[in-house]
Amino acid sequence: MILILLGPPGAGKGTQAKLLAQQYGVPHISTGDMFRDHKARGTPLGKKIQAIMDAGGLVTDDVTNEMVKDRLSQPDVAPGFILDGYPRTVNQAQYLDLLLRSLGRTIDKVVSYEVAEETVIERISGRRSCPKCGAVYHVSQNPPKRSGYCDRDVTPLVQREDDKPENVRKRMQEYGTKTEPLKRFYRERGLVAEIEGVGTPEGILAATRKALGR
Ligand code: AMP
Ligand code: ZN
Repeated sequence: MILILLGPPGAGKGTQAKLLAQQYGVPHISTGDMFRDHKARGTPLGKKIQAIMDAGGLVTDDVTNEMVKDRLSQPDVAPGFILDGYPRTVNQAQYLDLLLRSLGRTIDKVVSYEVAEETVIERISGRRSCPKCGAVYHVSQNPPKRSGYCDRDVTPLVQREDDKPENVRKRMQEYGTKTEPLKRFYRERGLVAEIEGVGTPEGILAATRKALGR
């Protein structure tokens, strides 16, 4: 089961990727999480990408492709995997094709979550996360029990730098110009399932599973 999740920032890809990974027992591979982890650990890569990431820009294709190549060489991807946030450019999609070919594997489906721009902006602007455990909340749609603090460990919640309004605009622009063309790229191969990304996470998961036929 090799799945690619597409959709604008705030479309709920991360949430669905986690649910799908549990459902099918395969790893969830999020290049955004991998980059955030490098940043948090202050690795050389983390330092290199920090500014571009905070501003909502894309990390270069070479750096991203290399990181994915390493990840796909791990043994846990044998039963399949769910890609969340990769590929994000046509160059990355072409690289992934070559990489998968060399591994003798093929993409099963590309799920594209469709959400209106106003909705994603409202979702992103209210998003807060716990810097300690990674739990994600929303100020109105999924608030923590005590406002501003994580339910699990009472750590003060923060807003991701790239979730701040000026940086969200940049991310939306990057999505529209560089990532959206991927839908066509994969549609030509009959791989795309479009899913309405509105409703409860469980409802969207059910729609996704139906589209996957399993
Ligand atoms: P995400 O959590 O998927 O929204 O990713 C957060 C940030 O990480 C993005 O805004 C980019 O700066 C960077 N990033 C994640 N995935 C990619 C990718 N495939 N190509 C380039 N940059 C990426
Ligand atoms: Zn926490």
